[in-house]
Amino acid sequence: MALQRRVAVIGAGPSGLAAARALDRAGLDLVGYEAHDDVGGLWDIDNPRSTVYDSAHLISSRTTTQFDELPMDSSADYPGHRELLRYFRTYADVFDLRRHYRFGTRVVAVEPADDDASGASGWHVHSTGPDGATTVEHVGHVVIANGTLAEPNVPTFDGDLTAELLHSSEYRSADVFAGKRVLVVGGGNSGCDIAVDAVHRAASVDLSVRRGYWFVPRYLLGRPTDTLNQGRPLPAKIKQAVDSRVLMLLNGDPQRFGFPAPDHKIYESHPVVNSLVLQHAGQGDLKVRQDIRRFDGDTVHFVDGTTGTYDLVLLATGYRLDYPFVDPKHLAWDGPGSGGAPELFCNIVPPSFNGLFVVGMLEASGIGWQGRAEQAELVARLLAAQAAADDGDVAARERVEAFRRRVAGRWPDLTGGYRYLGLERMSYYVNKDAYRRTVRGYVRDLTAPKSGDRR
Ligand SMILES: Cc1cc2nc3c(=O)[nH]c(=O)nc-3n(C[C@H](O)[C@H](O)[C@H](O)COP(=O)(O)OP(=O)(O)OC[C@H]3O[C@@H](n4cnc5c(N)ncnc54)[C@H](O)[C@@H]3O)c2cc1C
Repeated sequence: MALQRRVAVIGAGPSGLAAARALDRAGLDLVGYEAHDDVGGLWDIDNPRSTVYDSAHLISSRTTTQFDELPMDSSADYPGHRELLRYFRTYADVFDLRRHYRFGTRVVAVEPADDDASGASGWHVHSTGPDGATTVEHVGHVVIANGTLAEPNVPTFDGDLTAELLHSSEYRSADVFAGKRVLVVGGGNSGCDIAVDAVHRAASVDLSVRRGYWFVPRYLLGRPTDTLNQGRPLPAKIKQAVDSRVLMLLNGDPQRFGFPAPDHKIYESHPVVNSLVLQHAGQGDLKVRQDIRRFDGDTVHFVDGTTGTYDLVLLATGYRLDYPFVDPKHLAWDGPGSGGAPELFCNIVPPSFNGLFVVGMLEASGIGWQGRAEQAELVARLLAAQAAADDGDVAARERVEAFRRRVAGRWPDLTGGYRYLGLERMSYYVNKDAYRRTVRGYVRDLTAPKSGDRR
């Protein structure tokens, strides 16, 4: 098999599986690497890189999240992680994807062959197998799908803390809270889920937040909220006006429950899909605190001058992008801690076309696994067209060149008209409708028309 048809896939989570499926269907020759012993990514709570906890369920609803090709065999609107793991195992079985993977095998380095950063000579993928032996594979392309929610973002705080300190990445079960005075730091989706867990076990629960959030209930009119208004996206300004009024009607003003007023309009940051946190705040089960000023023994000083005393501080402060096996310059990136994300066309393709691709570097409200599958489809169609062009297919060459011209030209606006907060975690955020429409358009343009197709 020619080098240009040989593709490595790193990771067998939802994104890696979607990549394996798309590349396999496009007739490319792939070798997959998964550090854990099976598929499922972070949805396998036994995967050491997993960041789910016992109570974790989908935040987006089942039908908006699942792969189009394989509807989930479930009646739950928001299935839990165990059911999701079964789904990914079924997906791997149905499309016979495990045969491509080396399990228990961690990629430790991805380097350009012959030191040629253009990627023209392909890439060397160095991996360590279950027996500890290192192997090197020479491939034409590498799809990086190692996940975005594994490397904890741990802020620094002034002072010393004597209370137990955990990051949400280490949190598995509410047993850890039993009888303790708990402070959860960060009011995103994980922070709110975990604070709600803690309410049932801890002696007391405080939740420290830096900014106000928009809280979206899981259900509206008896249906999962994100299933309403599907396929007919409203212009950003109208959607913001309508949805913020609806939330005001349903939840009232979150300031009544002690939360600060949001410093942004709805959808300019990731909304918190949680109906319970406001209820528990209203019941007095948890107290909302402001940002932390400093630690002092078991006491935490907040910026408003108040203090609290804790046995356990749990940081739900998010995650950082992490591609430790590849020099960040190959991903057009200044690296972890730079405040930004790799500058990739549609969050997928380095502008240098060096043969590396990232699938799954995507945050968006409701993008689901289908959004990741469409990223994978774009990579597969591009590589298939390139391979056909190498075999002398002139029309395929034109399709590849047209795509390259797009990448060299002005990049599409993927914000959907929303002005996202200038935070590190928002640096790869997209609007799901604008993003999927754009990616699907490129997939169409890269696909050979079937005889009889009108294009
Ligand atoms: C609590 C929680 C709730 C969530 N809810 C939703 C939701 O409702 N909807 C939604 O769309 N998303 C949700 N997510 C986001 C979640 O990240 C995605 O659903 C999905 O798991 C992303 O898939 P992935 O394949 O990109 O990454 P992952 O699932 O993280 O998989 C990455 C895989 O790569 C492997 N790997 C990493 N490094 C290497 C290496 N060097 N060599 C070999 N293998 C490697 C890992 O072992 C892992 O199996 C949630 C996340 C959490 C934590």
